[in-house]
Amino acid sequence: MSHIFNFYPSQIIEYLYCPRYTYFEYVLRVPQQEDKYYKVQKGREVHNQKLEQNKDYLRKKIGVIAKWQDQYLGMPGLRGKVDEVLQLNNQSLAPLDYKFAEWNNKVYNTYKIQLIAYALLIEYNYSKPVEKGFLVYTRSANKLVEIEIKEKDKNELTTAIENMSKIIGQNHFPKATSFKKRCLNCTYRNICIQ
Ligand code: SF4
Repeated sequence: MSHIFNFYPSQIIEYLYCPRYTYFEYVLRVPQQEDKYYKVQKGREVHNQKLEQNKDYLRKKIGVIAKWQDQYLGMPGLRGKVDEVLQLNNQSLAPLDYKFAEWNNKVYNTYKIQLIAYALLIEYNYSKPVEKGFLVYTRSANKLVEIEIKEKDKNELTTAIENMSKIIGQNHFPKATSFKKRCLNCTYRNICIQ
């Protein structure tokens, strides 16, 4: 399937929350609420400071032998900026992403989706396998959390990208999310026929 759109991980996260987000936002062009943007910006500032501090730091404990910072990567259907691409001592690569967040003993699905998207981008651009990714929680003393990334995860994301391209490319009105609770606070609930 040819891809005319290159999505950011955040757009895929929205699609996986409810496919109709993609339709309303990118086919009908109804914007979402604005406050989301502010939070993202604030996170970014701290984020950039952290990147400065950690410039030359190689995480040898987890087998890192080299790293590349701030990698803007693209491939058919997908694009994004990876904070760090790590080269591990088994010749695989791994994304590392800084989160302006506290560690609550649970990896949010949104963070995982983002790492899977980075895994696809890294495999495409570096031609090396990606089997895991890392998150650094900057509000919990830079706690490092490892997340396994399976082939199944990558395949699911690829399918999501194809479905998103179909929604936008063919004006396809997708099915509503099956989680009805999500509709309660949804920006689009007034225009969405459920
Ligand atoms: S109202 Fe429900 S089905 Fe419609 S866009 Fe929102 S979450 Fe999706």
